Amino acid sequence: MTRVMFRNAMIWDGTGTDAFPADLLVDNGRIVTIARTPGQLSGDGATTVECRGMTLMPGLVEGHAHISFGGAIKDSDLGLIPPEEHLLLTMRNAKTLLDHGFTSAYSAATSKLRLDIVIRNEINAGRLPGPRMRAGSPEITVTGGLGDERQQHMYHESFGMIADGVEEITKAVRLCCREGADNIKINISGDDLSPAAHGGLTVMSEAEVMTAVSVARDFGKKINCHARAAGSVKRAVKCGVDVIYHCESADEEALDALESAKDRIFVGPAIGIIYGTLYEGEPFGFTHEMAVKFGMQRILDDSRKVYTELRKRGVRALIGGDYGFAQTPQGTNARDLKHFVDLLGYSPSEALQCGTRLGGQVMGLGDELGMVKEGFIADLLLVNGDPLKDLDMMVHEKNLVVIMKDGELYKDQSASVAAQRQAA
Ligand SMILES: [Zn+2]
Repeated sequence: MTRVMFRNAMIWDGTGTDAFPADLLVDNGRIVTIARTPGQLSGDGATTVECRGMTLMPGLVEGHAHISFGGAIKDSDLGLIPPEEHLLLTMRNAKTLLDHGFTSAYSAATSKLRLDIVIRNEINAGRLPGPRMRAGSPEITVTGGLGDERQQHMYHESFGMIADGVEEITKAVRLCCREGADNIKINISGDDLSPAAHGGLTVMSEAEVMTAVSVARDFGKKINCHARAAGSVKRAVKCGVDVIYHCESADEEALDALESAKDRIFVGPAIGIIYGTLYEGEPFGFTHEMAVKFGMQRILDDSRKVYTELRKRGVRALIGGDYGFAQTPQGTNARDLKHFVDLLGYSPSEALQCGTRLGGQVMGLGDELGMVKEGFIADLLLVNGDPLKDLDMMVHEKNLVVIMKDGELYKDQSASVAAQRQAA
């Protein structure tokens, strides 16, 4: 294990307080000392990173990761990738996320049962670069729901795992648990781009949701859901789902339900894909007019209202905007930070906390991940600039001077940045 001293950093610690100057020592994978009086800390035997006042902050946590998604235009494209290519794609995506400062990824779902699982295992074994991961199950969905790409008399593969009724749901969830998923995903509502079940429909029954949650609990797993319709949000809260994605159609009753459960749940607007489809989808066949017709403008407008309300009520929101589609390429995931500010009304500090401290919490490691604190896991980014003044800078690899995961220097360009500065 490496001993690393960060000298003369401006530390933004993830709590929401202002950045402060300090030296910081990492040993054995953990942040051991933060010295607010510069020059006091002994770096004996440590590799020294000269920070020169750059921002040292927690590694980012992707809260709606789909590391097996890549370049899909239609949902059905995800079903058409052969397993071998799909594994390689997922492997590349894992590295891409880490290269862009995501030291953790909370999976919203995988598109084939074992993809997230095997990549997580390889990363944990130190054989592949990638974020620490909670591996997702495929999206468990009912016949006709989001992720059922079948047609009568036709054969189509799908990214969903189709299960109907209490018995089939039980078996599907148990199968995902047996294979090693950390997070189970269920699609309670439909989706606006789904042919049979649009986003206003709540298609998974209460008994089915209750069953999925109960079986996930039996195996000690977390459970996520896709929930656009107000009814699906209420059903998710009532049945005990942990992470409720989308929620833009939440009515007053649904908002109250989310607020009442705010100490145990997380929400995630997944706003990147909505923005991408509305404004950047043209090269992939989504004209702005089409995107509006498919409800993207309405979702954006509703999301702003709902997340303004959820923020005021203290409901914890996660960044992660369905990156992995053609209009939301992997590696641009940190765009969600600025989207939270521009589209949903968060302050830059609040948005960054959604991508760090709250991310640590959803990973199930809230008392040791997601903040720059003594004793915490050393997942750190050294950023050339002040992200609170310009969140967009977080998207660009060149601004991430150091990426440290688990106390190991995955990337360290501090020396060349210093040389560039000297030359300038
Ligand atoms: Zn998603």
